[in-house]
Amino acid sequence: MHDFHYKKGDLYCESVKVSAIAQKVGTPFYLYSYKTLVDHFTKIKTAFQKINPLICFAMKANDNLAVIKALVNQGAGLDIVSGGELKKALYIGTDPQMIVYASVGKSDEEIKEAILSGILLFNVESLPELDAIHQMAKKLRKKIKVALRINPDVEAATHQFITTGTLKNKFGIDLQTSRKILKSFQKYPHIKFSGLHIHIGSQITSKAPFLNAIKKVIEFIHTLRQDNIELEYLDIGGGLGIIYKDETPQTAQDFANSVLPYLKKTGLKIIMEPGRFIVGNAGIFVTKTLYLKDNGFKKFLIVDGGMNDLIRPTLYGAWHDILPAKETKAKKVKMDIVGPICESGDFFAKDRMFPQLNKGDLLAVMSAGAYGYVMSSNYNVRGRVPEVMVKDNKFEVTKKREVFEDLIRGESLPTFLK
Ligand SMILES: *Cc1c(COP(=O)(O)O)cnc(C)c1O
Repeated sequence: MHDFHYKKGDLYCESVKVSAIAQKVGTPFYLYSYKTLVDHFTKIKTAFQKINPLICFAMKANDNLAVIKALVNQGAGLDIVSGGELKKALYIGTDPQMIVYASVGKSDEEIKEAILSGILLFNVESLPELDAIHQMAKKLRKKIKVALRINPDVEAATHQFITTGTLKNKFGIDLQTSRKILKSFQKYPHIKFSGLHIHIGSQITSKAPFLNAIKKVIEFIHTLRQDNIELEYLDIGGGLGIIYKDETPQTAQDFANSVLPYLKKTGLKIIMEPGRFIVGNAGIFVTKTLYLKDNGFKKFLIVDGGMNDLIRPTLYGAWHDILPAKETKAKKVKMDIVGPICESGDFFAKDRMFPQLNKGDLLAVMSAGAYGYVMSSNYNVRGRVPEVMVKDNKFEVTKKREVFEDLIRGESLPTFLK
């Protein structure tokens, strides 16, 4: 599953002791296993090899240059959601024809940059956005491929903040409107309607939501064929769930077995956009014990990492496994594991049975590779932490810890305060 494990009582990432990295780079930090990353990508690739899909890693899950480069070198494309992500993708040499671009709020500038760089597809999320892309394409005298992101109106059986495929959500275009748009293709001489896109949510652990959505899209493709509309691509999005606690998610192979028969029948080129599945369990967040506080009512283990570094517990009530970096016989007691931020929402675990560690002892918050660093902030004027990647018995810092100069970059006092 992943390459974080104990050896003689010490937590290792591949063949490197986590504590040795902490000694070198300080705490807190994010740590990624190259091998796990590549293994997870390979699992999807292998499971779907019969149809050879374009697997575009959803860069918003983790946009570290080393992470995306590792995947692109393995043959991945990238699914982007902003002009910034586009620039990072191009910076590491991603073939623009392996980039797809979703987002409900693409600006004119972002659209222009993406057209000029020659990306494969825009996944379009509304009629006004389509008009904006058409206008820009016309101005630039280009014909641009788009896929309509349709909202299949299916429940994803996941956290409400990461459900995207129902009409209560802002994403995608309803089927009726999509059909109307596709039938009126002549109004858009600078657009080539090339495909359909769905992405119904994230951390989906069962087959049913995917199957329901895919069946709905296929039905829709049949309707379109009756309208004489032929497409080239079907982009089935991301959303495959992983194990954080005791989930029993379908494997990549299970997923492939259930959807492949349907996908093959479409005859379309398939695009996939996995994010969390590839990177979630390939990363951990390492933090250090500052204090064990007992207020007579409750115990708190206070660590040097906070919600500004890893916000998933706060934002989604997400559960992360937490392991001491050195196995210990210390008695486990019920405690909250919390950060130093001045917010009650600043916690990694609540009422968790955990050993009473001592000042300086390291902890690893597991499964932190997806939606971890990318959601971090400078709240409380805390520098963002380093990101480190291990390959075999070596590690390298792939992003430095932010220092004070980074934290005040661009800030200046107005003349009347000088
Ligand atoms: C977030 C997102 C993904 C990736 O979702 P995961 O759950 O991380 O696999 C894929 N496609 C789109 C359009 C997204 O917004």
